[in-house]
Amino acid sequence: MTARVLVVDDVPSNAKLLESRLLAEYFEVVCAHSGAEALRVCADGKVDIVLLDVVMPEMDGFEVCRRLKQDPATQHIPVVMVTTLDETADRVKGLEAGADDFLSKPVGDLQLLTRVKSLTRLKMLTDELRLRTAIAHNAGFDNGLEDERRAAPAILLIDDDSASSACIGRMLKADFSLDVEDDPQAGLFRAAEGGYECVLVTTGYSDYDPLRLCAQLRALDRTRLLPVMLVADIGDGTVLQRALEFGVNDYVTRPVDPQELVARLRTQLRRKRYNDRLRSSVSQSFQMAVTDPLTGLHNRRYLDTHLPRLIARSVARQRPLSLMIADIDRFKSINDAWGHQGGDDVLREFADRLRQNIRGIDLICRFGGEEFVVAMPDTDRAAAEMVAERLRVAIANEPFTVDGGKNAIPVTTSVGVVSRMGTLDDAAQLLKRADLALYEAKNAGRNCVVAPAA
Ligand code: GH3
Ligand code: MG
Ligand code: MG
Repeated sequence: MTARVLVVDDVPSNAKLLESRLLAEYFEVVCAHSGAEALRVCADGKVDIVLLDVVMPEMDGFEVCRRLKQDPATQHIPVVMVTTLDETADRVKGLEAGADDFLSKPVGDLQLLTRVKSLTRLKMLTDELRLRTAIAHNAGFDNGLEDERRAAPAILLIDDDSASSACIGRMLKADFSLDVEDDPQAGLFRAAEGGYECVLVTTGYSDYDPLRLCAQLRALDRTRLLPVMLVADIGDGTVLQRALEFGVNDYVTRPVDPQELVARLRTQLRRKRYNDRLRSSVSQSFQMAVTDPLTGLHNRRYLDTHLPRLIARSVARQRPLSLMIADIDRFKSINDAWGHQGGDDVLREFADRLRQNIRGIDLICRFGGEEFVVAMPDTDRAAAEMVAERLRVAIANEPFTVDGGKNAIPVTTSVGVVSRMGTLDDAAQLLKRADLALYEAKNAGRNCVVAPAA
């Protein structure tokens, strides 16, 4: 993972120092020595993260941050304010200006790298999602980027020291809804029950290894993606190093600075929400790509990838597999008589009757205009022929409604049925044989099923 980091500091030697440490970790680094220069560099759109000195002549860091966050072109770039130690007032001002995180001078290596890496991940997710929403927007499938700030996110604090948990509770009560659990195992269960957006784990346990709890949180399916933050003591360097290695997202050290804790929690929550949205947009676009919009059935692309898998499984398990192609008879004349709209009504109704007459495990897809394919695992030719016949009857016996229900018209279908033969029968051959059977059914006068014995 690499990123382009902009280091902003009016003192060139300070900038150089950060630059060389980031370069050693293979980050790309750009330096700016004034606020105006920083804004110019960011406007180019190639910066992933900004490390921003607070005290600068002319335009200070707060003003630079404010301007970056006000401009839609740069507001998604994470900004880390580099403040002098213990400047609580600075941090409050930084948060108000929209800063995403803080680093205190002198900047420790572990701190610097965890901050930059954590924000790089956030930036990548943001970029990916922005790209996808732009694509979705162009394609007309826009659910937009909703407002990130929801009411009081739920946080779980796992801490057996009641004084410490009360103190953290006070820090978070304005912005978060906090639950406290003093037993680590019970905490793990609660986290797995869901509903939390972040888990805070303290390292102060006398008889329990917090790393173990973090490892369990990372191992469980239900908590794998949940952000975990450690509240550590000053001397916990090696614990932190290891925790970060196996996937703890971030940490703060005691004495905990409330602004810092709030800022880091916010970053974790934003990242989680971006992650969640990205995942759902991935599954949405995947769904869209393999679904026929008119009937809601799978489309041909899905069949193309899925049928070979069904065949391979049936070969491996030595189980039968059958396939049918159903084609609506004289569909062109339905279109001619009732218009394209009427034809579409028939297609939708046809798809519904298909679904009602086919088992859930069978794969139904709209193969082309008025052709439908059903793949039936564990079904031999005789059984498949019965299914096809049942479908034919379900179509022919009940007229279809068109014109918003005002008219009912007869519809029939012809069906070709085949079964897999031997191990060399691939998807293309199976479809081809089914198509030939369908052709026979059409020639035999339509409204019938043809299922050749071999
Ligand atoms: P046959 O009994 O031999 O199958 O005759 P047919 O008229 O059903 O077959 P043909 O393949 O000649 O015509 C199919 C028609 O289906 C042609 C095409 O315009 C129409 N069609 C294809 N896709 C759609 C669609 O999505 N909606 C509508 N309304 N019509 C479609
Ligand atoms: Mg037809
Ligand atoms: Mg056709």
